[in-house]
Amino acid sequence: MLRSRKKQVQQDKGFAVGGAIKPLDYLRREYYSDISKLVRAMIDDMCYSIEHMYEHREDDITFDGNPVNDLNGLLNYKYRKWKKRFNKHARRIAQKHIDSTDEAVTGALERSITKAAPDFTIRGDSRDLLMRKKSIIDANVDLITDLPEQLYKDIQGDMQRALQFGNDADALSKMLIVRGIQCRNRVALITKDQISKATAVLSTQRALDNGIKYAVWRHSNGSAKPRKSHQEADGMVFELAKGCLIDGEYILPGTLINCDCFRQVIIGEPELPARVSQ
Ligand SMILES: [Zn+2]
Repeated sequence: MLRSRKKQVQQDKGFAVGGAIKPLDYLRREYYSDISKLVRAMIDDMCYSIEHMYEHREDDITFDGNPVNDLNGLLNYKYRKWKKRFNKHARRIAQKHIDSTDEAVTGALERSITKAAPDFTIRGDSRDLLMRKKSIIDANVDLITDLPEQLYKDIQGDMQRALQFGNDADALSKMLIVRGIQCRNRVALITKDQISKATAVLSTQRALDNGIKYAVWRHSNGSAKPRKSHQEADGMVFELAKGCLIDGEYILPGTLINCDCFRQVIIGEPELPARVSQ
């Protein structure tokens, strides 16, 4: 117990370093699960309908008939139906998961600070915090409501290629299975990225609202494709309001795509430049 406390709270030249604040995997998984349920249902519905019609019109395709309009009409009908459904659920899903992320971030920040300053009490929501949260939710609603159009275009592209090359229904079915996997992978990437960004932005605003101005950049060793510059930035102290200067850009940990870096907040006023060892 004493050892882990010592590891997480470093006293150095009048400032203390709190515990790690990073995106939580379960939040990413739950966000992915809610969106991928909709995505999977849309893909299954569209693919089943096209495959069914394609199979029944296979002779027309073989003998130079033209089932293209019927297939396109069907796809278009399904797209409009799913677009409405995504629009209906997007705000509820985004709100739920950004609220959960904020709750997790607030708890992590409070624990992080109280490790160094036990009597600390975190302040409530500031106007800036509420504005940032709203803009994150709006951005996520846009991402969710954009998904049906992307899916529709992808599936339509596969169908056109199958028609163009005279593929049979089995071949089209195989193409659509691969397409479904790609779509779900894309959703996994988007949801991971969005939870990371929300964690970064909300923890920064909450820290600033509570008088915390500095943090330490931490590189995650678990990253599949680590950026060398992010590895080198490990331990660098930066101003939260500005971000950390990496590759000529001021950024926050976890805001670039596939960046698993995180931060530890600093309680006190370090003199920059400064580095903090693990
Ligand atoms: Zn990184």
